[in-house]
Amino acid sequence: MSNGSVSLYVHIPFCRSKCSYCDFNSYAGLESLIEPYVGALLAEMALWREATQHMDVATAFLGGGTPSVLPLTEVERIMTALRQHFLLTDDAEVSFEANPGTVDRAYLQALRSLGVNRLSLGVQSFHADELATLGRIHTAAEAREAFDTARRAGFDNVNLDLIYGLPRQTMAAWQDTLREAVALRPDHLSLYALTLEEGTPLADDVAHGRLPPPDTDLTADMYLWAGDALAAAGYQHYEISNWALPNRQCRHNLAYWLNEPYLGLGAGAHSCFGGFRFANVKDPHRYVPLVEESALGDGRPAEGLPPFLAGLRHIASTEQMTAARAMAETVVLGLRLTDGLPLKEFRRRFGQELISVYGAQVQELEAVGLLEQADGCLRLTASARLLGNEVFQRFLPD
Ligand code: SF4
Repeated sequence: MSNGSVSLYVHIPFCRSKCSYCDFNSYAGLESLIEPYVGALLAEMALWREATQHMDVATAFLGGGTPSVLPLTEVERIMTALRQHFLLTDDAEVSFEANPGTVDRAYLQALRSLGVNRLSLGVQSFHADELATLGRIHTAAEAREAFDTARRAGFDNVNLDLIYGLPRQTMAAWQDTLREAVALRPDHLSLYALTLEEGTPLADDVAHGRLPPPDTDLTADMYLWAGDALAAAGYQHYEISNWALPNRQCRHNLAYWLNEPYLGLGAGAHSCFGGFRFANVKDPHRYVPLVEESALGDGRPAEGLPPFLAGLRHIASTEQMTAARAMAETVVLGLRLTDGLPLKEFRRRFGQELISVYGAQVQELEAVGLLEQADGCLRLTASARLLGNEVFQRFLPD
């Protein structure tokens, strides 16, 4: 009998080389750690077996980093353990992130046969100069080929990631990239505005004048143009940065935006489970031995922590969710969705009307045209999608 559901995220922190804009928890040159790291992932899955028993797992997401740098034998170990330790439903969505420069047909066919049914390709751009600026290892031709190969390998659910708002990127270049992506007819598109993350080589280039900073007005225009172009091409805009063909929304990410429980496995992965948020240690070199220690665990109850977190040495931080925090996060995440947050769902979850908790904020933001209520949901207005963060801040506790 099912006892609710939980989504799983599995973090693979390995990359062939580090892209110039990337501050994710990912590392180049750590190939020798792959095998022990996967062993630790398997041990971590076993640790969660009891706390998640009777819970359906309807979505799993292998992300990174670059999961496609894993040899197939390691992917097979992970997929086998996922089924061994969790109740993966028959129709579970199993996503896998791949870098176009790292996959061929045999690899993708093997992924399909291992049960991966959704592929996310980090294309980012179809222009050689932009790919060079981003430090990507693949070419535009390899991106086209990877998409084609994915289709021939049997993937009928493929996402393409694209980045816009790059230094020196023109509107015409962005339009070319998006038109080319749409021509491939992917099932899903994620479009991200570049953020310059402190400490990355790209941010350094901009700080030292080697590259101009991104043009924020142009970036906003790129977003708006993309929205119109994708609507005309039949894609539904279902989240601030995500578009999908009908019935092709990413179920894993939807669970996250609906603030449903998820477990993050692997170095640096975050979880929201059992009324707590917690995060694993970030450094893969520390994660591996600490999971081993957790597996040997003495089960000591740690003060203030529930039994399912007792003795887990690979967890670096925990935070108990207060009702105020849970409500605020539910609103902020739900407002990312184009349909918005169902008011009925808020009432069901918290036993209170949203308006009785956030009346002042809602009134004020409605008055300035940033929020609206429609079809039983509270949502951002179309013009507020570029100003999401300003709206979200109004709901977060100090
Ligand atoms: S492939 Fe992705 S995770 Fe790896 S360095 Fe590039 S942007 Fe970062």
